[in-house]
Amino acid sequence: MSDFTLTIDGKAVAAADSFGVINPSTGAVFTQAPECTKAQLDAAMESADLAYRSWRLDEAKRRQALRDVAEVLRQKAPELGQILCQEQGKPLEKAIGEFFGASVWFDYTASLELPVEVVQDDDEGRVEVHRRPLGVVGAITPWNFPIILAVWKIAPALLAGNTVVIKPSPYTPLSTLALGEALRDTLPPGVLNVVSGGDELGKWITSHPTVRKISFTGSTATGKHVAASAAPDLKRMTLELGGNDAAILLPDVDPETVADDLFWGAFENTGQVCSAIKRVFVHEDRYAATLEALASRARNVKMGDGFAEGVELGPLNNKMQFDRVTELVSAAIDGGARVMTGGAPREGEGYFFEPTILGDVAEGVRIVDEEQFGPALPILSYREVDEAVDRANATMYGLSGSVWSSDAQRAAEVARHLECGTAWVNQHLKMLPNAPFGGAKWSGIGVENGHWGLYGFTETQTLNINKG
Ligand code: NAD
Repeated sequence: MSDFTLTIDGKAVAAADSFGVINPSTGAVFTQAPECTKAQLDAAMESADLAYRSWRLDEAKRRQALRDVAEVLRQKAPELGQILCQEQGKPLEKAIGEFFGASVWFDYTASLELPVEVVQDDDEGRVEVHRRPLGVVGAITPWNFPIILAVWKIAPALLAGNTVVIKPSPYTPLSTLALGEALRDTLPPGVLNVVSGGDELGKWITSHPTVRKISFTGSTATGKHVAASAAPDLKRMTLELGGNDAAILLPDVDPETVADDLFWGAFENTGQVCSAIKRVFVHEDRYAATLEALASRARNVKMGDGFAEGVELGPLNNKMQFDRVTELVSAAIDGGARVMTGGAPREGEGYFFEPTILGDVAEGVRIVDEEQFGPALPILSYREVDEAVDRANATMYGLSGSVWSSDAQRAAEVARHLECGTAWVNQHLKMLPNAPFGGAKWSGIGVENGHWGLYGFTETQTLNINKG
């Protein structure tokens, strides 16, 4: 049995079976999470469907509920952050910050409007365009930012008048279960249901007849399965998927000036960020100096258990990801990559991989061509800026990218040629509640955040009134 419970119809629901949750800093199971059954999922769907009938009617009430949720999260962030730290591995301060960020997102979303647009109003008639909610939203999240990515779905879905059944990753179920528990008295029963289980539970959600919209964040491979599962029922979907972001340093960039920002653009959350820098393109004249500047940051960063004082980077979250990063780095080294620092797992317990900077790598090496999702960064050399842009775009991913220069205007012109959902200039990973975030190509369908994200949880309805 687990100390944690599912939230179904506003109540705590225990499950007969459970699965182990691992602390990635030790590699050992530290507690159990409830394994939701098919019947319990059906109950969550039924409750969400019933709650939808009244939840959709009162926008002012929903707006206030979102503000109340923001307040609860602000109050409970220090306590809930502990749970996230333990199951995800990230530094405690970042884990608590994720809950504070969630409260900011709820507050901001509460301020968004769902305007009625009038496209005609004359003697003949009045034509209004409304935005209607969709119904029950099935939300599925990954293990890197379990809370903020959940909130990017829950807040706009609820404001638009939908109800939600959410399933976190089996690697990090506890913080989302705790979120559901924390909000039981704040949201009406059935408006937010939280269930946990394995990938099979995700499949049950995406194929469930009650679900009208799937909001999924995870890998591209799973995203394709989700799309296929949604198709027979024509469920609406938003897919936020993987990335292989490039950062292009124009020839004028002084490596020392940008090294800190570049490093954190790649290594934040131990590199487990969908839109982290995953390839760096550096002009050949600055190549050696950039390698050295990044390697010195990687050598000096403090990696360790998220609860330890002063830790900046935690472990990888799970064994699968740890093995994958180990394999990609080994393959690069076997292929002739120069290891500036790191290059191997850290001795001892847990899923720690030394922060790694790789030089003398190019396309054709897996860590360049694939998404590494870990603390290992390949640095590539280029001769012409156009060539760097073409190489940055030569991938099926298109999540985000960045261009760096002392001339921000020039960098912005180059950035506009990147085939991706977000193009940054002289920064990377700057996420905003009011700007859309989503991927081009295999990095996704649809966007989250801002009014664009909110509209993704609605359908337009044209109301055409004949005045004649
Ligand atoms: P994953 O695709 O393995 O799992 C994501 C979620 O989907 C989990 O909850 C999992 O249980 C569930 N799932 C697995 N198979 C399923 C199926 N067939 N049907 C329905 N649900 C299923 O991804 P992950 O390893 O947890 O996360 C890492 C990936 O997520 C990376 O590729 C990363 O780039 C991506 N990601 C993208 C964004 C974004 O906003 N674009 C943000 C964070 C992470």
